[in-house]
Amino acid sequence: MPDRTIALIDVNNFYVSCERVFNPKLEGEPVVVLSNNDGCAVARSNEAKALGIKMGQPWFQFKDLTQKHEIIAYSSNYALYADMSNRVMSILATFSPDQEVYSIDECFLDLTSFHNLNLTCYGQNIRQRIKQWLGLPVCVGIGSTKTLAKLANYMAKKHPEFNGVCDLNGLSPQQQEKWLKKIGVEEIWGIGRRAAPKLHAMKIRTAWDLKHASLSTLRRAFSVVMEKIIREINGVPCIELEEIRPPKKQIVSSRSFGIKISDLASLEEAVSFYTSRAAKKLRRQQSCAGAVRVTLRTSPFQEKEAYYANGLTIPFSKPTDDIVLLTKAALWGLREIYRRGYKYQKAGVILSELVSADKLQHDLFSRASIDHKARKLNEVMDQINDRMGSGTIRLASQGIQQSWAMRQANKSRNYTTDWQELLVVN
Ligand SMILES: [Mg+2]
Repeated sequence: MPDRTIALIDVNNFYVSCERVFNPKLEGEPVVVLSNNDGCAVARSNEAKALGIKMGQPWFQFKDLTQKHEIIAYSSNYALYADMSNRVMSILATFSPDQEVYSIDECFLDLTSFHNLNLTCYGQNIRQRIKQWLGLPVCVGIGSTKTLAKLANYMAKKHPEFNGVCDLNGLSPQQQEKWLKKIGVEEIWGIGRRAAPKLHAMKIRTAWDLKHASLSTLRRAFSVVMEKIIREINGVPCIELEEIRPPKKQIVSSRSFGIKISDLASLEEAVSFYTSRAAKKLRRQQSCAGAVRVTLRTSPFQEKEAYYANGLTIPFSKPTDDIVLLTKAALWGLREIYRRGYKYQKAGVILSELVSADKLQHDLFSRASIDHKARKLNEVMDQINDRMGSGTIRLASQGIQQSWAMRQANKSRNYTTDWQELLVVN
């Protein structure tokens, strides 16, 4: 019996699957979800993958294919995906006392204390629960390290004979060998596109080859990270399960604009809007920011136009989570770095030097009554926006028309986060 048992649960084609929950007609059809501003494919259904659409492929490259095969393309609906992700993670949290949310659609669960259970059955329970409660398909990979759990998940996803759950520890040594010899070394977590060719040149082509490779040779040829990966494939845990949703060290809110903008007024609206989004995340994790940074740039790919990029960090004498103070500082910074005559493509707001709100110390100059008023104002704004839909109440500096907003020609509705956009059943 291994010392540890780790499961990795991952939603299949997450963004596409979220769209399918609310639009079952998409089942069995080739569907892609496009990145911000409808730039390139960030999620593909299996049917779209089969047509040869690559991850990250620019939309204009497969537009023709779209018409020929009736591929359905969605603009990304991050409000929907984030909300569905929260639901997935809170259901998964009930299956183990230790959870590490690894990305928007995957998490690790420590199942070490469940060794008396049939873990393949346990994995099937997880799959059924997520399918039944949320309508999303997931695969479960189980192994004695995080790297092996990732590998098992890959096997569960690629090979239908596992029926969505692969417990590596449940396979005989002969079966394990057979499978590891089938899996290319580039599929292993952490190997990356750069290391794979170098490994191939050293005649290390499969997961099996890597498992039996010389630790000292590979440490010298690569780094200690490679050594850790090899140890992990051999069942020796080197990568710890991290704390559940560690509070973020910085919060970034940055987007490309739907159109290039030159005027300061539109930029002010955008920066104000990004600040409010970042501030909301800040308050949700109960932190205060010690500094806000504003960034601004033109497109780096426009050869004929002059390039300009700049950023400015504004520190606070006392960390704050107050939207009014954060916005004032961000807008002040923007005006400092703004230069007339450029066509700007992107702006961003970064909150840093985060501290826990309850550990905050009052400084000599702060006035408790003002702080109290600001806190009340922020609380009420959050409450109204949570109930009535985000953006219902906002600072006037965010503007009304938001002509700079992202291009999202074919976005689905915010089914789960906005009362105005609930699913209508006829
Ligand atoms: Mg996934």
